[in-house]
Amino acid sequence: MNRIIDDYIRSGEERTRADKVEKLAARFSERAAMHDREGSFPFENFADLHEAGYLKITVPQEFDGDGLTLYDLVMLQERLAYGDGSTALAVGWHIGQILHLRTSRKWPEAIFAELCRSVVSDGAMINTFASEASSGSPSRGGKPETTAIPTEGGWLITGRKTYSTLSPILDRFVVTAYIPDEEGTADFLVHRTDRVSLVDTWDTLGMRATGSHDVVLDGVFVDKDMRLSEKGIDDGGGWFLHIPACYIGIAMAARDYALDFARSYRPNHMNEPIAALPYVQHSIGEMEIELRTARSLLYAAADRWDREIDNRPALKPELGMAKYVATNNAIKVVDLAMRIVGAASLERKRPLERFYRDVRAGLHNPPMDSSVLHTLAGAALAEMPVDRGNS
Ligand SMILES: Cc1cc2nc3c(=O)[nH]c(=O)nc-3n(C[C@H](O)[C@H](O)[C@H](O)COP(=O)(O)OP(=O)(O)OC[C@H]3O[C@@H](n4cnc5c(N)ncnc54)[C@H](O)[C@@H]3O)c2cc1C
Repeated sequence: MNRIIDDYIRSGEERTRADKVEKLAARFSERAAMHDREGSFPFENFADLHEAGYLKITVPQEFDGDGLTLYDLVMLQERLAYGDGSTALAVGWHIGQILHLRTSRKWPEAIFAELCRSVVSDGAMINTFASEASSGSPSRGGKPETTAIPTEGGWLITGRKTYSTLSPILDRFVVTAYIPDEEGTADFLVHRTDRVSLVDTWDTLGMRATGSHDVVLDGVFVDKDMRLSEKGIDDGGGWFLHIPACYIGIAMAARDYALDFARSYRPNHMNEPIAALPYVQHSIGEMEIELRTARSLLYAAADRWDREIDNRPALKPELGMAKYVATNNAIKVVDLAMRIVGAASLERKRPLERFYRDVRAGLHNPPMDSSVLHTLAGAALAEMPVDRGNS
């Protein structure tokens, strides 16, 4: 069967991996409505992901991971989000950051090795808690109010982080903190202790099952070796493509729902299902343009990032553009899908209204639209001016 979701599969190996993830996604889609309604964290999905080996897909092979590429990550994340956007976004931070650590090597080798071993053996995961209520998005350069104060053998960290995706399940996480003595900011690897508490604040319109609660750190001791180096290789931030992959996966699920509906729904004044109507076909065509444009940019950016290792920092504008187009087009696709289905799309027993709420969150994951436009404008203005004799 010809499906557009399969357009970018290049080999039998990729097909096998995709099939495996589709099975997981089908299982997660059955649980998605309940977790969305309750705003609960889908622990059982993460147990399944661990059992299926998904948590180690980007761990380097030297640590018994699969060492998959960014292209592979995008392909699998799209499929997972097709089943459940929340689970895909949440696990995306983990597998994305492992990929980033693998390529940037910015952590001390021993700490990274220990993390990789824990991922493979115990299903440990990682995420970075950088956002705070008063600093705004960390991607815009806000200074954390969380502080790291030196103490014997290490640091005491105090503060409150917002939007802490995966917080219900993590036994360790990275925290950004301001060091007053140094007038600078650093990353610290924090292990969960009784001085870390979770405040159940995540009650949002969409992505309700990502467990993105507030995390409060009350003088948490962090060993001196757990201050993480910010040095390392600039990899252009390719790993952030897990975000557009997620929102495109949601859009694809909305598109397929609308297609099924259009093929089968026949009001009694019509002789054929509504798929025969020019207006419906026009909307379907529009969905295809939005999706195909976004996916071609997304896969092209991932492929270039995988191949052009020395050129990765220069790919930032292209990576940002792929995210911008994917998240905005995904919103349009879900909207079109709902217009095709009509008022029934608003019913809670159908998944479209959840897709509509979930897909909206993409605008508020980095890089935000304004940053992408700024980066593209900067790249354009930095081009050598053509002398037209205007000056
Ligand atoms: C589902 C989800 C999961 C998340 N998971 C995590 C996570 O795991 N870890 C984490 O650290 N964070 C996470 N975040 C937080 C995210 O990275 C942002 O910090 C958060 O969404 C706030 O971004 P913002 O742009 O709304 O905030 P702000 O920076 O406060 O911006 C608010 C508004 O102000 C304007 N604005 C402010 N500053 C500027 C500027 N310099 N230029 C242009 N406009 C500006 C814009 O209109 C913007 O929309 C998550 C967010 C979501 C939605």
